[in-house]
Amino acid sequence: MSKSHYQSPRGTRDILPEEAEKWRWTLNSFAELAQRFGYGQVISPMFEDLGVFLRLGEDTEVVSKEMFTFQDKDPKAPQDLALRPELTASICRAFAQHRPTTPWKVWYEGPQFRYEKPQAGRFRQFVQVGAEIIGEEDPAADIEIITLAWKFYESLGLEHITLLINSLGNRETRGAYNRELSAYLSAASGSLSAQSRETLAKNPLRVLDSKREEDLEIISAAPTIQDFLSPEDGNHFESVCDGLTSVGIPFVVSPRLVRGLDYYTRTTFEFAADKLQTAQNAVGGGGRYDGLIEELGGPPTQGIGFALGVDRILLACEAEGLELGDSKPLDVFVVDLTGGSQATQITNEIRDHGFSADRSFGNRSIKAQMKVADRSGALFAIIVGDDELEKNEVTLRDLRGDGSQERVSRSNLVNALAASLKERYSQ
Ligand code: AMP
Repeated sequence: MSKSHYQSPRGTRDILPEEAEKWRWTLNSFAELAQRFGYGQVISPMFEDLGVFLRLGEDTEVVSKEMFTFQDKDPKAPQDLALRPELTASICRAFAQHRPTTPWKVWYEGPQFRYEKPQAGRFRQFVQVGAEIIGEEDPAADIEIITLAWKFYESLGLEHITLLINSLGNRETRGAYNRELSAYLSAASGSLSAQSRETLAKNPLRVLDSKREEDLEIISAAPTIQDFLSPEDGNHFESVCDGLTSVGIPFVVSPRLVRGLDYYTRTTFEFAADKLQTAQNAVGGGGRYDGLIEELGGPPTQGIGFALGVDRILLACEAEGLELGDSKPLDVFVVDLTGGSQATQITNEIRDHGFSADRSFGNRSIKAQMKVADRSGALFAIIVGDDELEKNEVTLRDLRGDGSQERVSRSNLVNALAASLKERYSQ
């Protein structure tokens, strides 16, 4: 077969049926869990006014380098738009727009877009699931949100996830820390990577995000934000840590964890999949963003949330050897040797009764149709030949067991199939 001229764009991929089944199962698991925790789903647009995302901080790489931006076609006043690189900003925009009562507990799922350098576990279109609690400063909200993420990993069977946690304090804390950090990094800037030197000039905190080899030693000796926390923020963080301990969620306090976006305050956290290569082992992260909604034109409102990367979670599951999904084989494949109209009627009837059924097309030979039936993985075949049609019967054949078959009357077909399937599943 010659290769198609067109390929999916760089950094994107097609998820084909076998793989897509795992995706659907995983996304459903998250939806069920979030509903069980009392969160409602928000479905927001895939693109927003560019300004919504600029509020995330123009010095952050996601905003300055990675956004897919475009203008609409309004000839007089074209609007600047961007494909969403994440969903917290959209949720906060939606909150500021609709002003629901608080606490507003919501979850979401969907693709995000970032113009990144593609590599294993890093794509230009990737899927996140996430949740937010808006309008609540109680550390119990932080604990609940982290618990939701943790239970999701657990529900998939993942056992090698590390929760890293830190507090970034408030705006003043960050200001004071930024100055101290800036002084420290500037003194050591000769040994930093060129990229980090550039970052240092714009936003010293971001340098701590660097995973570049030459920066690691300098970063590991950098002052930490913990020494700058106000007593209130220190207490808040302590309550979060105590709460996590009380619900049995293990965590590592990581004093230099600052996360990629600028809007975080107080609690920040990240989940690392220990079985993945370190460069892309972050399978989720989140934190408080107590100033973001105000920035987007809403009233001063606290918020906390997380986003988990589904592409990477599935890679982590693979690395841990987990089989995801609960897919069942097809119940029945209908083989029609009388022209095809019987197959149309019988598959419809079977599907209407809630069973899964498939058929072949094109009026092929019995050999060809049985081959397709076998390949379909169906448990049973229903065969209609001239003799069966004449007697108003069908043949029901066991495709996976001993290959036995029986004639059943057309009117009793559904009952006979139900009984055979019941027996198969009880074996
Ligand atoms: P972030 O908001 O950047 O921390 O993203 C949250 C999570 O989304 C990360 O922990 C990753 O699991 C996932 N993620 C972020 N960027 C990408 C990407 N380019 N490709 C795949 N997953 C990503």
